[in-house]
Parts: sequence; C-alpha cells; structure tokens
Amino acid sequence: AKSEGRNLYRFFEPGMDATVQARRALEADLDTALPRQEFDLDFQPIMNIESGEIVGAEALMRWHSPTRGTVAPDNFIAVAEETGLIVPLGEWALRKACATAASWPPGLRIAVNVSAVQLKSGGFARSVISALAFSGVPASRLELEITETVLMDESETVLKTLRQLRGLGIRIALDDFGTGYSSLGYLRRFPVDKIKIDRSFIRDIDNRDTAAIVRTIIGLGAELGITVTAEGVETEMQLDMLRDNGCVEAQGYLIGVPSKAADIQRLLQLRALH
Ligand code: C2E
Ligand code: CA
Ligand code: CA
Ligand code: CA
Repeated sequence: AKSEGRNLYRFFEPGMDATVQARRALEADLDTALPRQEFDLDFQPIMNIESGEIVGAEALMRWHSPTRGTVAPDNFIAVAEETGLIVPLGEWALRKACATAASWPPGLRIAVNVSAVQLKSGGFARSVISALAFSGVPASRLELEITETVLMDESETVLKTLRQLRGLGIRIALDDFGTGYSSLGYLRRFPVDKIKIDRSFIRDIDNRDTAAIVRTIIGLGAELGITVTAEGVETEMQLDMLRDNGCVEAQGYLIGVPSKAADIQRLLQLRALH
C-alpha cells in the first residue's frame, strides 16, 4: 500500500503515515475547492411550533468534490478551521446565504453557522455588515449560530464583536446547547437571543430524565426571554412533547430536510401565501 501511495502522491515523503497522507490530501483538495466553486449551501426550514409557520431557514454547507463526492461538513469544517480556510469559506457562506435569503418572502430569517476561528480572525463584523449591505437583507433577518467554543476563551475581540453585531439587530443563537461544559455559565455572561437544544436530547426525549432536562431548558429560555429551538425533530411524538412544554421553534427532518436553495424558496413562498 505504501508504494502505491508513493505513486499516487509523489509529493509525499516515503514512510509518511497513511493517516497523515490522507489528511494532507484532504487539505490540498480543500485548498482548491473554494476557487473551483465546489461548495454549496443547503437550507433547512425552521418552524414556529405554535403557529406552524416557517419562520426561516438554516444554511448548511456542502462540499461537492469531483473526486470525493459530496462531503458532509463534519468531515471538513474542522480541517478548514485548522488550516484557516474557514475564514474565507465562512465569509463566502455568509454572503451566499444572505444573497439567497434576499429573494425570500419578507421577514423570513436566515441562520448561518459561524466558527470560533472566524470570530477571532478580526474583521468579522465588517464582513457581516458587508454581506448584509451587498444583499440588501436587513440585520434583523440574520441569525448567527455560534457554539460554546466561541465563548470559551473569553477573548475581548470576540466579546466586542458579538456586542457590536447584536447592536446592529443581528440575533445570536447558542448552537448545540447542553452538550458543552458550562452552557449555563455562558448564558449568564453573554447575552444571546436564542438557544438551540442539541438534537441528542430530542432523540432521547422519551427517556424520563432527558425529558426533564428538555423541559428545564425550555423553562429557562422562557424565564430569560430567550427563544428556544429544538434541533433534530424527527417524529410527531417529539413535536407534541415540545409543543406541550412551550418550546418556541422546531427544526428537523419532520419539518423539512436540508434542501437546495430553489426548493426551499418554493416551500417558503408556498407557506407565505397562507
Ligand atoms: P449543526 O449546526 O448542529 O446543524 C444541524 C445538523 O443536523 C445538520 O448536519 C443537519 O443536516 C442535521 N439535521 C437536521 N435535522 C436533523 C434531524 O431531524 N435528524 C438528524 N439526524 N439530523 C438532522 P450537517 O448539515 O451535516 O452539518 C453538521 C454540522 O456542520 C453543523 O451542525 C455545523 O456545526 C457544521 N456546519 C454546517 N455548515 C456550516 C457552515 O457554513 N459553517 C460552519 N462553521 N459550520 C457549519
Ligand atoms: Ca447550527
Ligand atoms: Ca446544532
Ligand atoms: Ca453540531
């Protein structure tokens, strides 16, 4: 296998570990993927549980590699963060998401995932403001989804940037809520507009203890005036439980799978008619 590898990838040194080789190859492919326009965004609808209306959609990145096929974000975002590619890639996603949402019915929100690396890179607020201005989408329609790792090192740059963005009317959502070390601590220190209950809790919602945790998070959101969104809602039973407990929004395969921009546009326009 080693000699085969040498023939395939002449620039790799002989004796290099196979996983290291694979990793270098992935980095090399990723590096050319942005100029070659191999990235795309899918959009997944988000529903207001009480009204049943679609209130917006989350942009989810896809990599259509000519050699690897479609690569899921879990298999390339972390690498892009390590190489720094996530900065221009994230900026591309932000612009693309805003440009797409510009043709949605008015008021519908667009949620975009933001990596800690982007927020720490400096100039992030400027790139957000520019994406909004370029697309004509008002700040009130943009939601930025961050995870706890963004808040973990408490850097002044990140804090200032988040405050500045909120000041413009952009909403900040805390993603994968409940999976980190200190979700509650962060809620106390960083004003956020929304929490997204991680889908691992929704998946196990028929477990008594898990149900108690979900109810507690929903209650916490209500007390703090924070919108609570449940992720990964796949069954009517899960949705019923969330509705009974006053959860505000739901997202998941039951409501809609991540879809191409054109398909989501059709869905949003249909829903906006009634
Ligand atoms: P996430 O932000 O938590 O996104 C939700 C993930 O759950 C998506 O996976 C979505 O396809 C999946 N999902 C939605 N509903 C259901 C459901 O009912 N059941 C199940 N089993 N899964 C569901 P995806 O698209 O593979 O994205 C994975 C992660 O990659 C995202 O997790 C997010 O952390 C990251 N990601 C995606 N796009 C971007 C991006 O543009 N920038 C950054 N920095 N990260 C991104
Ligand atoms: Ca997200
Ligand atoms: Ca999530
Ligand atoms: Ca996640």
